This record gives sequence, C-alpha cells and structure tokens, in this order.
Amino acid sequence: MTYFADFGLAEPISRALADKGYTEPTPIQVQSIPPVLDGRDICGIAQTGTGKTAAFALPMLHRLAATPKHRLKYATRALVLAPTRELVSQIAQSFTDYGKYMKLSVTTVFGGVPIPRQERAMSHGVDIVVATPGRLLDLVERGSLDLKHVEILVLDEADQMLDLGFIHDLRRIVGLLPRQRQTLFFSATMPKAIEELAARYLTNPVKVAVKPAATTAERVEQAVIHVNQAEKPALLQIVLRDAAIDRALVFSRTKHGADRVVRQLGNAGIKAEAIHGNKSQPQRERALAAFKSGECKVLVATDIAARGIDVTGVSHVINYELPNVPESYVHRIGRTARAGRAGQAIAFCAEDERPFLRDIEKLIRQKITPLALPADFRAAVVAAQKVERSAPPAPREDSRDDRRDFARRPSGGGRPGRDPRAQVTPQRRQGRSGGGAGHRGAR
Ligand code: AMP
Repeated sequence: MTYFADFGLAEPISRALADKGYTEPTPIQVQSIPPVLDGRDICGIAQTGTGKTAAFALPMLHRLAATPKHRLKYATRALVLAPTRELVSQIAQSFTDYGKYMKLSVTTVFGGVPIPRQERAMSHGVDIVVATPGRLLDLVERGSLDLKHVEILVLDEADQMLDLGFIHDLRRIVGLLPRQRQTLFFSATMPKAIEELAARYLTNPVKVAVKPAATTAERVEQAVIHVNQAEKPALLQIVLRDAAIDRALVFSRTKHGADRVVRQLGNAGIKAEAIHGNKSQPQRERALAAFKSGECKVLVATDIAARGIDVTGVSHVINYELPNVPESYVHRIGRTARAGRAGQAIAFCAEDERPFLRDIEKLIRQKITPLALPADFRAAVVAAQKVERSAPPAPREDSRDDRRDFARRPSGGGRPGRDPRAQVTPQRRQGRSGGGAGHRGAR
C-alpha cells in the first residue's frame, strides 16, 4: 500500500491533501508522481476520473516550489494545455486547491471571455498557465504571453485535442517552447496519431497506464431500455422522477437536442439545465454551479461539453441518445462512479441505434442488462404528448452536433477560422452503421 506521505511531497502540499481528505494515491498517481518528481517525461494513458490531474499537478507544484524564481513579465514556468474551457477551469482549480498553502500563481486562458483580463493577468508573469490552445496563441500573437521560459509542459486529453482540430495550434505552441523542458503527456486513448505526437514531443518518457478505458465501465451498474425514439421524452420523465436519483447527467448528441430535452422536461415540471457549445461561458458556469450545488438535479449535455466535467455525486448517467463512437459511451458513463463511488448508467436505445449498442458492448466486453419499459409507460407517453401539445411552440432547431462550435473562439480572434471536424476520422463522422448516423439529424 502506498500513501501520499511516501512521496516526500513538500509540507504545504501534504497539508492541502490532508484538507481534502486524500491519504491514498490512485493508481495513476502511484505510477506518475515519483518519475515526475525526478524530472522525467511521462506518456500516460488515463482518462478523467482516475485522479490524473493530481498525478501531474502535485509533483509539478513540488518542483516549481523547490526552485523558486522571480516572475518575469508575460512569462510562465508551467503550461498546461487542455481541450475545453471546463477542463481548463477544473485543472486550474485543482492547482489552486493543492497549492493553497504555497505562493505559486495560477491563471486560466480560454476563449469566450474578454481577452484584456487575461492579458492583465499575464502582465506580471504567472507560475502556472492552464489554457486551451486557440486563445493561448491569440495571447502569444498579441505579445501578452511569452513561452520562452516554460519549464514544464502538460498536454492533457491529447486525443480530444486532436479530435477538435487543435493539432496545428499544438505544433505551433510546442515550437515556441524551449527544447529543454519536462513534458507530461496524457491521453484517454492511444491511437497511432497520438502515439506519433507523443514520440515527437517526449524524451525517453516513462510510460504509465491505468486500466484501459473500456474496463473502467466495470464499476458502473449499466442498463439499457429499448424504446421508440418518439417515446424517449416520456421515458426520461419517468426515470428522472425516481427518488433514487441525486444528480443525473443526460447525454444528447446535438446542442439543439439538449435544449429540446430541457424544454420538454420543463414543460413536465422537471427542472433541468443544458450545457453545450452554444451557451456563453457565464451560462455554462451557472448551469454547472446549479448542478454542483444540487439546486438543479438534471444537467443535459453534449459529449464535448461534458468531457472532463468533474462533479462528485452524479448518481445517474442517462444516454438519451447512444453515441455512434463507442468510446464516447465509456467517457459518458465515467462521469458517474468517480473516484471509486458506485453509479448507474441507463441507455435509451431506439431501433436504429442498435448497431451503436452492439459496438459499445463489443468495446466494453460485456452485455448491458436490458430493462423492461415501466409498467405505467403507455399512460406516461399519452400524458407527455398531451403536455407537449399544450406547450408554447418550440424555437426553430438545427441538428448540428457540438464539435464545430464547442471549440469556437469569439469573433475578432484574429486567426483564420478552421473546421475542427476536418480532423475527425471518417469512421467517427459517419458512425458504423451506414445510414444510422443521419437519423438523428433528420428529426
Ligand atoms: P481527475 O481524474 O483528475 O478528474 O480526478 C477525479 C476525482 O478524483 C476528482 O474529484 C479528484 O478530486 C478526486 N481525487 C483525485 N485523487 C484522489 C485521491 N488520491 N483520493 C481521493 N480522491 C481523489
């Protein structure tokens, strides 16, 4: 058995860990903390929920504090890159929490908020910058961020960054960093493109891996209910009225699908919030805060928006629509049963989603338990349809998924636009069942 005390982390870090109540490191922490403390590069396969953030943040704080330096204007000593604003905020919060008894400064850099505030934050220099790639380059181009003094680089969720089309930004950023640095590279999956990226950026890395993504699903109690697409709203209402639900994260494939679910639930008297790429940063933060505080028990999200969301106590993950990429299912259900807790995942599977279900079962190497429709289901469908008919008309919808807009930077960003979906492999874009991927868009 390993304890945090065995790592010899600086006393202020140990104190912060004690405040959090952490005594035992998670497997990814056991594997990563000693080599990072030794200054080694890391190539890690781990997804959020495994304790990955502390696996790099704790030894980084230790190393930065062990060699104190004066802050240089616009410069930073450590750069952490992550694909989404939510993930950036969460990582920065972890650094702040674990480093609360230290004098190291942390700032976030991401799009969707005014740039001058981030420029002001950089003007006196910062010890740790946590950023999305696009806005980071905007700051560099404006002369407000100097990467020449970076000692440690972290690339988090590298596979997701590639999916979102950040590869060119990543290349540019890494080209601006000193060659002599420590690099910590984490990805949930290691396809060939990610392996090549890792090989280019890492020097003699220590390879660490926690259980492959597929097997983390074992901790979650999973079920599937076969249901007609048109009857999913009624089923969702019945499931959400179940008293055992503390906090439910509901996944929809499209932004407008997420809004529609929230609206239908609202019409049925169930409070829910949506989080996706069309929401402004303050809207997303408000929705997340309401969900975290328990004020709103239902959060409806798209895959990209939910990636990395760390909310303790998510009792249920509901796959209102099944993802056409089976790995996304594993990421989704990983939002519950975090850090060892038990959780429940329920998938709603329509006739034309069965090929997706088969792909998922193949990946997780287990059959998901089918549940019968609730006894009072027919009556609930009729009631839900009646409520919908008497509700005010819905705004016009489109059916794009969330990939394009989630990474969108505000207008005036200065650099040419790009379509992140260009990086998505054809298999991912089209799904695996021929016409299957299009059915949702047609609704
Ligand atoms: P992460 O994979 O970094 O998103 O972490 C997942 C969750 O586990 C977060 O809520 C962390 O605060 C929590 N966590 C990380 N390390 C530990 C630990 N050693 N003991 C208990 N909880 C932890």
